Amino acid sequence: MSNYAVIQVSISVIEQMKHHYNAYLAPKVPPGGVFSAKIASCTITAYKSGKVLFQGTGAVQEAARWGQQAPATAKSTVPKKKAVTIYTPPDEIGAMSAIGSDEVGTGDYFGPMIVAAAYVEKTQLPLLKELGVRDSKTLTDEQIAALAKQLISFLPYSLLTLHNEKYNELQGKGLNQGELKARMHNQAINKVLERLQPHKPEAIVIDQFVQPDTYYKYLAKQKNVQRENVYFSTKGESVHLAVAAASIIARYAFVKQFAELSKQAGFILPKGAGAQVDAAAAKIIKKYGEGCLKTYAKLHFANTEKAKQLANK
Ligand code: MG
Repeated sequence: MSNYAVIQVSISVIEQMKHHYNAYLAPKVPPGGVFSAKIASCTITAYKSGKVLFQGTGAVQEAARWGQQAPATAKSTVPKKKAVTIYTPPDEIGAMSAIGSDEVGTGDYFGPMIVAAAYVEKTQLPLLKELGVRDSKTLTDEQIAALAKQLISFLPYSLLTLHNEKYNELQGKGLNQGELKARMHNQAINKVLERLQPHKPEAIVIDQFVQPDTYYKYLAKQKNVQRENVYFSTKGESVHLAVAAASIIARYAFVKQFAELSKQAGFILPKGAGAQVDAAAAKIIKKYGEGCLKTYAKLHFANTEKAKQLANK
């Protein structure tokens, strides 16, 4: 199944096409482009090189109106576009009733890995917008806390926390972080689906952290793997507000857990995985012994070795 087509035409044909799609022209044109248009069945982008790219369910059919498919050349002048797959969210995704899922804490040495999934009914979308639900990276911790408390009061959701000790144990057994994430996403989604029964969402949007094929490979031995109407997007928060909501709920939980860990450590732990983190981990080793680090941190990060060296100085 092909959801895109490329044809090579003359500039005069491109001018004809531009005229033809006049009512559907997009305001923005990519670099090297002549025009971009969006019709019901596909999007069309024409380039100065004479290549025209069609993407969407009706791509092949629409392209056939104008010319032959261009032979595949090693050096295409068309900028590489991601091919549309069964995992690409449909154009109308943002207006659907959907479950979204996202994770937090994967790049932080300290603290747990948390995945949240939340369901947003399409009738609730305006409310979420009104509340200010958006990409959690643009929100302060205070805003996240206030929003999360509101969201969990009315959205069906699931929140899974993989604490450091368990994380390290599973990691030690050979599970990589991607596998752990995939399992948690699938599990969180399943929990929300259970809560919704017998109702079913129109879509499930996963904030993409690996290629969908890899995601499913990670879940090969798992039960109840969701595949129906599951879409992946690397910018999940902007694709559907359910992902943004899930992200806010997960981040709120992470901030709380992080504060708890800092309290346990007796000093404020830094986020991320930089030099400050090495120093803080060294401090924990000196204070409580190396064996305690596993309850605070993701030991497979390179920070562990650096912290040990610092602590031994
Ligand atoms: Mg994410």
